[in-house]
Amino acid sequence: MKLIFLGPPGAGKGTLASRAVEILKLSLGEEHPHISTGAIFRSAIAAGSPLGLKVKAILDSGKLVDDQTTIDLVRERLAQADARTGYILDGFPRTIPQAEALAGFSPGLTSPVDRVLNFDLSDTAVLERLGGRRVCRTCGHNFHVVFDKPKAEGICDHCGGEVYTRDDDKPEAVQRRLEVYRAQTAPLIDYYRARGILTDVDAGPPVEQVVENFKRALGLRGA
Ligand code: ADP
Ligand code: ZN
Repeated sequence: MKLIFLGPPGAGKGTLASRAVEILKLSLGEEHPHISTGAIFRSAIAAGSPLGLKVKAILDSGKLVDDQTTIDLVRERLAQADARTGYILDGFPRTIPQAEALAGFSPGLTSPVDRVLNFDLSDTAVLERLGGRRVCRTCGHNFHVVFDKPKAEGICDHCGGEVYTRDDDKPEAVQRRLEVYRAQTAPLIDYYRARGILTDVDAGPPVEQVVENFKRALGLRGA
């Protein structure tokens, strides 16, 4: 299945995508790579590659990387063998031109999008979640200063790594990401709804409940 996860920053798309990979494996017996453009950009930055150097300031500010760079990156990723039968796209497309470019890709010679899940979350909840988010520098686990604190302050429960605030989770950047989302990405909701392939999923409840809603949206009741 070829899935797009749409939704504002803070909707939990990354966490949900990891869960969805397990669920799809159990219920369909298929491996779906989780393709996150944000994660690809962050690892390029960590590696200091040419792509990383080009996009670092853009990510820190909360703006979008230009469409052409992003489209080229995803086109190459989708051409890899593991993406032939299905994938979860998390963070792409984020603009109408990106959606139009994606529609022209034909991984495995089939339609590049089967279904779009729109993880819906209010602006108030976005600001509350992202303002409190902390991330492990080593293993990437997410914490929250109120809802999900590490046992020892600043130290990851899972690997002992340093827990820090992503530059783009600082207040000005969070506000900017939300504005960018409403202006540039939210129009994709109508774009895909008009094509009859969009399903809304309420991202407000705790993650286990959202996982159940996701399964129901795809008719995966047994998993
Ligand atoms: P979020 O937590 O806001 O959902 P991501 O981890 O998906 O963030 O992305 C982080 C940043 O990477 C974005 O703020 C943006 O700068 C850049 N980025 C990710 N995906 C795209 C995309 N499809 N187009 C342009 N920029 C992107
Ligand atoms: Zn860790």
